[in-house]
Amino acid sequence: MNLARVAQRLGITESRLQCLQETIIRESAWPEPRLLRFEKESSGVEAGTVIFENGEIAFGYPKIRRPLMLAAAIERHFSNRVAVEEKMNGHNVRILSINGEIVALTRGGFICPYSTEVARSKIPEEVFEKHPQRILCGEMVGPENPYVASSIYPTESIDFYLFDLAEKNSRTTSGVHRTHELAEEYGLLSAALLGEFSKETAAERIKEIVIKLGRQGREGVVMKDPENEVPPLKYTSSKTNCSDLSVAFRYYNDYALDFFVSRAVREGFQSVEWKESEEERRKRALSLGESILLPLVDTIKRAQMGENIVQKVQIRVKNLQTARDFEYHLRRSGIRTIFEPPEPDDGGYLIRITKLVMSTNDKTQALLNGEMW
Ligand code: ATP
Ligand code: MG
Repeated sequence: MNLARVAQRLGITESRLQCLQETIIRESAWPEPRLLRFEKESSGVEAGTVIFENGEIAFGYPKIRRPLMLAAAIERHFSNRVAVEEKMNGHNVRILSINGEIVALTRGGFICPYSTEVARSKIPEEVFEKHPQRILCGEMVGPENPYVASSIYPTESIDFYLFDLAEKNSRTTSGVHRTHELAEEYGLLSAALLGEFSKETAAERIKEIVIKLGRQGREGVVMKDPENEVPPLKYTSSKTNCSDLSVAFRYYNDYALDFFVSRAVREGFQSVEWKESEEERRKRALSLGESILLPLVDTIKRAQMGENIVQKVQIRVKNLQTARDFEYHLRRSGIRTIFEPPEPDDGGYLIRITKLVMSTNDKTQALLNGEMW
């Protein structure tokens, strides 16, 4: 690897790169090709940035900031118009071709064997033939998404929705219009473009959109500058906040504190900004309360009956090796699982996976036995 060239592409000095290699840059030798990944953000290089053996770089997907007061933030942040896209609820992948093979990178910069198999089946090779530099950024969603399973999308398994385009060795992305053009050109699914509004009317329209999406169980929106000059912002429905909370409270000791607090606070700001009536506010309070208490009670009762608290997911693979590789990938990501024997299904295999949530399990048992919080 030519360190000088890599450092230049990253926009840092060679000695800084060497220093980072001893701290936050980690090597990942499996699966092929070998790569280096930024475990954390540093020197302006996003977390999840990957340097391949051949010196090519895939920059990490940037964090998207979230306003709590929609109208005020839009006024402050955008310069003219606001394009609104649906926010898909799954996991972020960057799909690219390296040495002529398609691979899917996770947010953290690992090659995920399952996402890679899915990407190879969904993305035509032509996408990269004339443009080997291209990187497709998008979300994998569906009931057979083992990271975030969701049944609200029109698939029985898992699909890839494009929402951005990038290039190797470059931080810039192509923006909303080019992304949707490319999706059209190759028949790829893309995050729905829900409208483009003037800055003055956007907040009101987005409110309507978010309420409607919420009713459909969909997550929310990402607001983008049609000219791609300022970074996107995200905003989610109350339904999403509550359903996130209900999952988190079910496995309450396996989530970071901020996950709970930030979602509760969002509800407060949304309720104020939308000037809810007394009745609407009580309804919101009830949903919020239910999403906290009911899953908690369920978890405690299950533990009381001696049941192990687990999370069940499933994937479908064409190749059994993908399932074995994915099992290893989850293990190296620190997730403990039990993979059931593969069930042959429609030319492939259905794999049921039990994720063990050890921390919530142990904590609940201990508390039930009279241990102190
Ligand atoms: P962050 O991006 O702030 O680190 P996070 O990793 O917790 O947050 P989310 O809160 O889900 O993720 O929000 C950002 C993510 O939303 C993006 O990384 C991307 O995977 C996903 N996403 C879904 N739909 C879109 C879309 N239409 N445009 C951009 N991102 C989208
Ligand atoms: Mg998400």
